[in-house]
Amino acid sequence: MKSLIVANWKCNPATLKDGQGIFREIKGKMGLVKSEVVICPPFVYLPVIGKGLVLGAQDAFWEKAGAYTGEISPAMLRDMGCRYVIVGHSERRRVFRETDEMANKKVRAALAEKINPILCIDRLSQLKAGIKGLNSKDLKSLIVAFEPLSAIGTGRPYPAGKAQKMYWGIRKIIGKDARILYGGSVNSGNASSYVKEAGFQGLLVGGASLKPREFIGIIKEIS
Ligand code: PEP
Repeated sequence: MKSLIVANWKCNPATLKDGQGIFREIKGKMGLVKSEVVICPPFVYLPVIGKGLVLGAQDAFWEKAGAYTGEISPAMLRDMGCRYVIVGHSERRRVFRETDEMANKKVRAALAEKINPILCIDRLSQLKAGIKGLNSKDLKSLIVAFEPLSAIGTGRPYPAGKAQKMYWGIRKIIGKDARILYGGSVNSGNASSYVKEAGFQGLLVGGASLKPREFIGIIKEIS
């Protein structure tokens, strides 16, 4: 199976022009890369960021439509061509007080629209709560991202050996089908330790995904 590399641009860059520049540069340097690469830009850039790379969103609401000012539904994301959506990112949990229950509703809403949810967790209790109500078919479309809090955006990557222990804890709960990614201060120097040594099926990359050369370096390391 191809590795999956997801770029989480968060609330960056400040202009569409800069976003399109990063997108073009990544696309231009992809060459014969064998990994599946997903770009998750801010919502407003989704329909106009560019063509030729798979798109994902950084969040989604759980309702299809209605009186929910400011929210974006999975159905809308699907209409914009998104195939993946990040759910329960630690920044959503910390800054916006999102709970396990909300993450679970978002996972289920994404699956109902045939969008692959990328459920972010830093402990197994979040995983168990996030997958409540899912059946074995749902688990085939689920992606779990292990993102230890101490490593996200800090420049302090989690030791690959410790991440591997968590990998097996996750695998035991979700079974053999769902893909498991590592995220947290990934760069071109440490990427392969998570995929080739610890056995993750891919990576969720924040800061480094906004630097095309570094991002391509990561992709090439694990391809
Ligand atoms: C993230 O935000 O999901 C992330 C992994 O960030 P960074 O790569 O910057 O640590």
